Amino acid sequence: MVALQPLFELQKIDTGLLQLSHRQATLAERTNLTKAKSTLTATQSGQAVAAAQLDKVKSEITNLEAANKKCEAQIVKYSQQLRTVIAPREAEALQHEIETVRAERSANDDQELLLLDTSESLEQQLKQFADQINSQSEIVAVATLALNQALKSCEAGKQLLDDQRLVAASLIDPKLIKLYDIKRNKRTTPAVADVHGSKCQSCHLDLSVVELATLKKLGVDEYAECPNCDCYLVV
Ligand SMILES: [Zn+2]
Repeated sequence: MVALQPLFELQKIDTGLLQLSHRQATLAERTNLTKAKSTLTATQSGQAVAAAQLDKVKSEITNLEAANKKCEAQIVKYSQQLRTVIAPREAEALQHEIETVRAERSANDDQELLLLDTSESLEQQLKQFADQINSQSEIVAVATLALNQALKSCEAGKQLLDDQRLVAASLIDPKLIKLYDIKRNKRTTPAVADVHGSKCQSCHLDLSVVELATLKKLGVDEYAECPNCDCYLVV
């Protein structure tokens, strides 16, 4: 039977490469970075909402102040008119106008006070958002660094295994490597395994005494294969 130990070594390297690419695809560092980024994004949208609210409140305050200036002017105007009118009915009418405008001004003042409270609390919120964004940006930076380092270490591990694979493959008949590749592509379990006791280490099923004896009697150019899972066997 053909000696399959070198191919078994190649299989071990390929298993290592597979584990490495799985590790690379499921790095905890990537999950951490994604989480940190989404936390930061949420805070930034909160900040944008609060900033828009503050703009709106400020413009409402500006409008109220402009309206009150108008009220003041009207009160001055009516008061001057009041000094010149003689008819009591006209005076009464002007008095009434002045009261109406004063009431409007007072209502505006009340509203402005409420808006000032709101604007103060929004400014407080914005300060908190800014602090949070600072610390969350730092977390994103640290997580980015950690991911880059993890990727670099995966890359270095891959380079090492690739080099080992070149050496290991150079010791094997290319025809056998082709057969191995075909077998490997058709399965998820190892395409080459050894036997512990009577157990195939790929499918973990026992070979019978007869099956083992048959494998040992194979011709020099024949490959030992597991009768259960069809992998190449090192016996
Ligand atoms: Zn098997």
